[in-house]
Amino acid sequence: MTVTLDRNVEAFIGSPRQLFINGQWVNAASGKTFETPNPATGETLARVAEGDAEDINRAVRAARAAFDSGPWSRMTPSERGRIVWKIGDLILEHVDELAQLESLDNGKPFLVAQAADVPLAADLFHYMAGWATKIEGNTIDISVPYMPGANFHSYTLREPIGVVGQIIPWNFPLLMAAWKLGPALTTGCTVVLKPAEQTPLTALRLAELIAEAGVPDGVVNVVPGFGETAGAALASNDDVDKVAFTGSTEVGKLIVQAAAGNLKKLTLELGGKSPNIVFDDAESSAVEGAANAIFFNHGQCCVAGSRLFVHESRYDEVVDGVAEIAKSIKLGSGLDPATQMGPLVSDEQFRRVTGFLESGRADGATALAGGGRFGDRGYFVEPTVLTNTRPDMKVVREEIFGPVVVAESFSSLDEIAAQANDTTYGLGAGIWTRDISKAHALAKKIRAGTIWINCYNVFDASLPFGGYKQSGWGREMGHEVLNNYTEVKAVTTLL
Ligand code: ADP
Repeated sequence: MTVTLDRNVEAFIGSPRQLFINGQWVNAASGKTFETPNPATGETLARVAEGDAEDINRAVRAARAAFDSGPWSRMTPSERGRIVWKIGDLILEHVDELAQLESLDNGKPFLVAQAADVPLAADLFHYMAGWATKIEGNTIDISVPYMPGANFHSYTLREPIGVVGQIIPWNFPLLMAAWKLGPALTTGCTVVLKPAEQTPLTALRLAELIAEAGVPDGVVNVVPGFGETAGAALASNDDVDKVAFTGSTEVGKLIVQAAAGNLKKLTLELGGKSPNIVFDDAESSAVEGAANAIFFNHGQCCVAGSRLFVHESRYDEVVDGVAEIAKSIKLGSGLDPATQMGPLVSDEQFRRVTGFLESGRADGATALAGGGRFGDRGYFVEPTVLTNTRPDMKVVREEIFGPVVVAESFSSLDEIAAQANDTTYGLGAGIWTRDISKAHALAKKIRAGTIWINCYNVFDASLPFGGYKQSGWGREMGHEVLNNYTEVKAVTTLL
């Protein structure tokens, strides 16, 4: 059984998609297109114009003109807020259509995209819209010791940072576009967005809705293309004031180098290898929680609970329980309502994850569940639980970005804090216990940007999200993110 495709979806994938630059749908300057495959089958899903440096530069010029002289920066905050709100409304009017496109392009179950990705994207715009009218500076009473007797009036202004380049990954294509565009539009910035080459479709459909909501031409430009060409051109363009990137730590480091030319501002939301810690007094629901922490979105989450630590007294029960859940997960096409886990996003990702499984096996790890490919077509990998691992193994140290968890045991609170922090990453962590004091004590000790207690993968537009250590710079969402899209100006008058 499969979901019947929405007519708009059929039309959208039925003809080649173009780039969105300065309010116009245009071909790439090179005339080139690339295919985005359906990961459940490996067959071509749609063709998309392939932007490269020339298209990126054209889009940046449009965004620059829209920022410097366009109506966007002259609108009142309230007018801008209403338009950002309208984007959220339009997303909610097209939930099924967007969820189907996402499922086809990324592989995730349609029902998950319909329940989570798309409503969360709408909620992000609605949340941000409210901030448009609440971005404020302060008045500051200054002292200036070397000018005795002088009086001053000083205040700060928070101004939009300018033209923003946004480079996003393929794991939550629409939601990542929302996380990026919401705060940029709210603060009055203009944007060139480069979606991931694996999943360009929902960002392009979102561009149509953004235009429909009344965002002026040139304010949002969407240029699909490859990382090494379009992405690199955006990161190094001297007319871009800030780059916001979500993706691998490896590419994040390249972005830092590319941004050095004009010292553009940067925010980076990078990888993770998040610990999920189950204490001896945890509720039995921790078993399902630990499975969800790693298997949600096929493990293709930067914050996936990929290192499971269980107190030695409960180790067998919890790890066997997670393995049983892994074995029971139904894999299939994202459009089949019975599917609980779809394919990985691409052939490259499939090879990467199965490569990690081979390395784990070669290093002596045991697959308590899964451990290999599922089926013989598409990019499916079995949900996998690895035991008998050592802290120095590649599968324990590196981000796999697939449905693979490594399970280890621990004996004390002090020991687990050190084990949890034994990673170059610091994005998230989970703690499962009935002892709330113990949970908060451990939450303080873990060096990570998000801690979940007796839950996992709980996201909200109002909660800041981002990483310590090599998991990134800055925060997405919440009011924290607004600081990353604004500059502060101090103005002083001698009275
Ligand atoms: P993954 O390895 O999970 O595919 P990446 O970090 O490679 O994640 O990709 C995330 C985003 O970064 C994508 O939009 C991709 O096109 C882009 N990207 C990849 N390489 C570069 C690069 N050298 N410069 C700028 N962007 C890049």
